[in-house]
Amino acid sequence: MEMTLKQIPKIAPPRFAEIAAKAKSLWDGFVDNYNSQFPPQSLFRDDYRATVNPMALHFGLHCVKSLGIQRLEDTAICLRQNLDGEQRAPSWLWKNEDGAPIILMDVDQVTLSFPQNEKEQKKIRTRLFLHEIGHIVLHLSALKNQRSAFHPGVSDDQEEEAWIFCNVIVGLALGCVARSGRLNNVIDGAWEKSC
Ligand SMILES: [Zn+2]
Repeated sequence: MEMTLKQIPKIAPPRFAEIAAKAKSLWDGFVDNYNSQFPPQSLFRDDYRATVNPMALHFGLHCVKSLGIQRLEDTAICLRQNLDGEQRAPSWLWKNEDGAPIILMDVDQVTLSFPQNEKEQKKIRTRLFLHEIGHIVLHLSALKNQRSAFHPGVSDDQEEEAWIFCNVIVGLALGCVARSGRLNNVIDGAWEKSC
């Protein structure tokens, strides 16, 4: 029988505030550093050919760099199709020998979810990517203790925390879209965007 919402454990408010504050601090630092490269709508665009939204990717690189991980441009984040493994999650965290985290994404699985809708596929890939960045930012110590291998299944709490991180970033990006619309006196369209 399916659980009711009330039966699901709740995350403690102080931890929620801590995650949101961490996400906001990283977002603000990213915005200050990449101001000229990404207009407010960038996280919600779908006119790119890359596997991951370029703004999301650069934000992820910014997060990894802020954690003090070196050689990130060429080793920290990569994408791999057709992930093996018993649990076919659409994305995974991996790390290489020097401890640098790597995000692996099963692009095929995402495509199969919405075979006719590339826009929806891109939204899913953005969310998965930000979710994994959330794990890197929030749960790096667990990663550090592992040898080179797939990151073991995280706890229920950690899984929720990574989604909170992801959606705080999406919320902040939507806020930028809404604010820029108001400042420019145009309908911003934030209400119809999501990712
Ligand atoms: Zn996760």
